[in-house]
Amino acid sequence: MTEIALTKVAKAGSLPAGQELVFGKNFTDHMFAMNYLTGKGWYNPRIVPYADFPANPAMIVLHYGQAIFEGMKAFRSADNRAWVFRPYDYLSRFNRSAKLLNIPQMDVELNHTALLKLLALEKDWIPGKPGTSLYIRPFVFADESQLGVKVADSYKMFIILSPVGAYYKIGFKPISIKVEDKYVRATIGGLGEAKTPANYAMSLAAQQDAYAEGFGQVLWLDAVHRKYIEEVGTMNILFKIKGEVITPALNGSILGGMTRKTVLELCRSWGVKATERQISIEEVFDAHAKGELEEVFGSGTAAVISPVGELTWKGQKIVINNNQTGAFSQKLFDYVTGVQSGKIADQFNWMEEIKG
Ligand SMILES: *Cc1c(COP(=O)(O)O)cnc(C)c1O
Repeated sequence: MTEIALTKVAKAGSLPAGQELVFGKNFTDHMFAMNYLTGKGWYNPRIVPYADFPANPAMIVLHYGQAIFEGMKAFRSADNRAWVFRPYDYLSRFNRSAKLLNIPQMDVELNHTALLKLLALEKDWIPGKPGTSLYIRPFVFADESQLGVKVADSYKMFIILSPVGAYYKIGFKPISIKVEDKYVRATIGGLGEAKTPANYAMSLAAQQDAYAEGFGQVLWLDAVHRKYIEEVGTMNILFKIKGEVITPALNGSILGGMTRKTVLELCRSWGVKATERQISIEEVFDAHAKGELEEVFGSGTAAVISPVGELTWKGQKIVINNNQTGAFSQKLFDYVTGVQSGKIADQFNWMEEIKG
């Protein structure tokens, strides 16, 4: 077993009290770091004080974008124990993203050990108020300094932790969505199924346009036919039509979300038919016209469930469930957040306890 070195801060900080935690603005005292060099592999796994690091202006990631990341969460239950949600699943996806970006594979066991060790050290930073969590951000980038386009020989990996407030301060507010017909997010054979900064960089212009037009998010259609539904913003999307939950299949251009997977597992365990298949925007509008479109919602780690109240495609708007949160969306949200916060028994073994 590889040793993980530990250097502690001289003076520990503490969870900001009494103020709203803005997403991703506060960081804990320590971070995990590890380096990679061709010939040497991943080396020097260590937990060190959270700090800036030196960056050479010619670093490959800054020029050619070779990077990946993850996003998961840890929680504090009412009995003051600490838990992390599905860590192996997220860390396994991290390696799948690495493969697509030609980043060297990591040892999932080592990353898991490192994460749990870091979380144990930073346990006091896990907030306990309803809806709060400790957001976990692992990431890797090519840090070799040279401007030629090549497979980098040097990488850095980090895990940083950020306490976050409740995503929904006053309950759900269904979002109004623009079905995007100018920009595309990804295409099969591209980076769509990797969690990589490029997918976010390219979403910004479309998102800005949508905001300017008064929408909250965009719904992406496939790049080839411009008709099959892919994702919403940076969440997966699910439709409830005539009692059946339908979500686009993982065809290579869609991110395989952990929340999507969690929702599908839940539906199936509840006896609700859940289907992963191609679904077109026409089919959704047709289902609405027939009165069969019951609910639409996004899924992602940050919001868990994000109800969609309106969809506008080429100027045509449909209103879903009277712009109200659907009962099923609410039930899913309550269940997943209930397990995460320890209020509902963890029948599915999603939670791993942070010990020590
Ligand atoms: C992270 C992400 C999602 C949601 O995945 P979760 O694992 O549920 O958080 C969906 N789409 C994209 C593009 C993402 O990066």
